[in-house]
Amino acid sequence: MKRIGVDVGGTGIQMGVVDDAGNILSKESIPTQISLPVEEQVAQIADCAVRTAAAAGLKPQEIDFIGFGIPGIAAPDGTVIKCTNMNWHYIPLAELFRKHLNVRIAIDNDANVAALAESVAGVSKGSSSSVFITIGTGIGSGIIINGRIWSGAHGIGGELGHTILSLDGDLCTCGNRGCLERYCSANALIRIAREAVAKKPDTLILSAAGGKPENINARIVIDAARENDPLAVSLYARYISYLGQAIANVVNFLDPEIIVLGGGVSKAGAFLLDALRKEYVRYILYKDQPLPPLELAVLGPDAGIIGAAMLA
Ligand SMILES: [Zn+2]
Repeated sequence: MKRIGVDVGGTGIQMGVVDDAGNILSKESIPTQISLPVEEQVAQIADCAVRTAAAAGLKPQEIDFIGFGIPGIAAPDGTVIKCTNMNWHYIPLAELFRKHLNVRIAIDNDANVAALAESVAGVSKGSSSSVFITIGTGIGSGIIINGRIWSGAHGIGGELGHTILSLDGDLCTCGNRGCLERYCSANALIRIAREAVAKKPDTLILSAAGGKPENINARIVIDAARENDPLAVSLYARYISYLGQAIANVVNFLDPEIIVLGGGVSKAGAFLLDALRKEYVRYILYKDQPLPPLELAVLGPDAGIIGAAMLA
């Protein structure tokens, strides 16, 4: 099958022709322009798809399938229900796109798509069930069951970032309190560190940020913990504790074959994995039974293109 995967992001739209094994044969991108009318945006995406096909030696009519991964949710008929970054609300994306290229189209959430990519061509390849957790500015997740994305009966499932850990916790952007995302996203780690350095400025976190709390990022906090800075160590321990509980919740509830971590924070690598592997087991119900391995995603930013193509 000749397929193109399209990774729709807030700053850019990447796409590629992908073979059946998940290898990217050609890659093109265009900037995201949310100020344009949606018909114009779709026309530009279609033009780019034609260029992407040509770069892989394919004519537009030879393309069988185009899949889209979006930072939002879509209905099975190809209507984007909600995609805030693109300002798409109830947009018939598949229908609009077919005016330019008459191909089979599927659309799914970007975390679901990344989960699928890893299970087809990445670290969870060969598993029949997996849960992918992406830790970046927010927390996204995707569930794969029997090799297929499970996004729920209504397409709104798999939102691990908004599972509630603390009844009276921090107010989340979703309107609830105490969501996982409020404690374990990169933004959360930054916010918590900025609050902490205001009370305790004598820390490597602040000196590594040039003395400016606004320069603190997740990497600075994690690196300071690695260097045994006392404040960073305590913030990181609490961070790991929250994330470990979330992972244990996933295991206790779904018992997947493997759990995969991706997103910016996962670049902390073994420092993150080793701490989490120790921590999450504490909250497991059946500790004497086999537990799913916790691994890092391997496809990086290409996961969006590969997974979208694999929606076929
Ligand atoms: Zn929330």
